[in-house]
Amino acid sequence: MKEKVAVYPGSFDPITYGHMDILHRGLRLFDTVICAIATNIEKNSLFTVPERMELIRESINGDKNVVIDSFDGLLVQYVKRVNARFVIRGLRAMSDFEYEFQMASMNRNLNCDMDTIFMMTSKDYFFVSSRTIKEVASFGGVVKGFVPPAVEEALNRKFPPR
Ligand code: ADP
Repeated sequence: MKEKVAVYPGSFDPITYGHMDILHRGLRLFDTVICAIATNIEKNSLFTVPERMELIRESINGDKNVVIDSFDGLLVQYVKRVNARFVIRGLRAMSDFEYEFQMASMNRNLNCDMDTIFMMTSKDYFFVSSRTIKEVASFGGVVKGFVPPAVEEALNRKFPPR
């Protein structure tokens, strides 16, 4: 039987429990999920791509069904290159919908063989975003419970407690 592979793209700057929740839900549907860091969206990132990859690695506890990778350029081209047909995206509040709908529609135009699957996180994480986590950490706020321990430590190193 053919292995079912999905790509979970994002900036993961850094990975949060919101991302991990979507990742675990994806693993119930697919044999392998590729966490793919989009490197061309270098929107003032806090962590470098190798740092982000390492933080994902430290957070997945050696799960062999997760592959960590990075890509630049168009997502549809990357998805073809790794022989996948499915992309996973997470949906938080309504605000994610419009952007995600536009992206998925454009991607379908670029590659009609590719489907985007949207998943909802647990209610505990639907308000969590990498951006808010960074903001809270930068002001010395506690991010425990929203990010894996390795990320918490990395944030403490970037923003030493005051
Ligand atoms: P962020 O907006 O947190 O920087 P990314 O660009 O890394 O997120 O997003 C990668 C994917 O993960 C997107 O589909 C995004 O909607 C999803 N995602 C991020 N955080 C959450 C969350 N808390 N709940 C559900 N999906 C999420």
